[in-house]
Amino acid sequence: MDRKLETDSSKPQSIVQEALSRVSALLSALSTASTSTASNPQPEGPPPPPRGSSSLFSAGSSDKGAPLDPTEFFDPEPQLRAKVRQLAELVRKADKVVVFTGAGISTAAGIPDFRGPKGVWTFEARNEKPPPMPSILSVKPTPTHMALVAMLKHGKLDYVVSQNVDGLHLRSGIPRDQLAELHGNLNVDRCEGCGEEFYRSAGKVDWGEAARKAYRAEMCPACGGRIRDSIVHFGDALPRRAFVSSIHRSQNCDLGLVLGTSLTVSPACDVPEHVLRRRKPLVIVNLQPTSLDDEATVRIWARTDRVMEMLCAELGWDVPPTADLDEQLTRSFGRYTLDS
Ligand SMILES: [Zn+2]
Repeated sequence: MDRKLETDSSKPQSIVQEALSRVSALLSALSTASTSTASNPQPEGPPPPPRGSSSLFSAGSSDKGAPLDPTEFFDPEPQLRAKVRQLAELVRKADKVVVFTGAGISTAAGIPDFRGPKGVWTFEARNEKPPPMPSILSVKPTPTHMALVAMLKHGKLDYVVSQNVDGLHLRSGIPRDQLAELHGNLNVDRCEGCGEEFYRSAGKVDWGEAARKAYRAEMCPACGGRIRDSIVHFGDALPRRAFVSSIHRSQNCDLGLVLGTSLTVSPACDVPEHVLRRRKPLVIVNLQPTSLDDEATVRIWARTDRVMEMLCAELGWDVPPTADLDEQLTRSFGRYTLDS
């Protein structure tokens, strides 16, 4: 197989330049955004945003899809409580819940989202330079991540489909065979030859490095192939097995739960539609409009941490204390492969 050192040399120069400028724009815009304040108490949002077609590091100004309106919407407290009770009832009846997650579940961990008031593209649109990103290791799983672990322990969680590359689902304790990281994982490298994956400690990666397509010095111990980062960069296809598995699990679940994503990045955003096509309930929790709002069984406008903590309380579940399995995962280096 072709193992060129300079993989980008096969692409037209204009695309290379475009990719580099996008990565550069992203890096300059990444910030330590924390949770933002409520800006609007209205329960209903504006029309859904148009969709873009991009991945995290390819999402430049020309294809990020949504207009840059960072407004967030919040349900009034009584409505929020009623909606969480509805969600709890759906979870009680479900055996297989598939959860779709996006940047909104990690903002409480200090990682900025894209379209929120302190989002990457919100800063970019204002030509402002936000503060630097926190170190990967200092970022820990949020209450939302841990509530999903509780859902797993109670036998309800079938699968997590995430657009996040921060690696927090894996570090919180979601098993690899129940997780599809559609845009890759900062901590995971993959052999181009046999597909074997390798974990690098969160203490050894940084955001800047992750934004570059990078080959490692080591060769694959199984097949001798080249090992590179697993991030879905500009021009990369989504990881096929993870994507196919996401669709299959979505088609066979009995409840879909969207957490913290505006569902604007294609094709990842198309996955929850498979739940609706099978006429199964879909619950959406996000502070900004999504393209599936009109079809959602329950539409909740609130922070995901709040909703998941309320949900666990309603169901009588304890939310496990914050876990970080980074060290355990590091020890598994080279001993796990893609889900099949
Ligand atoms: Zn290999």
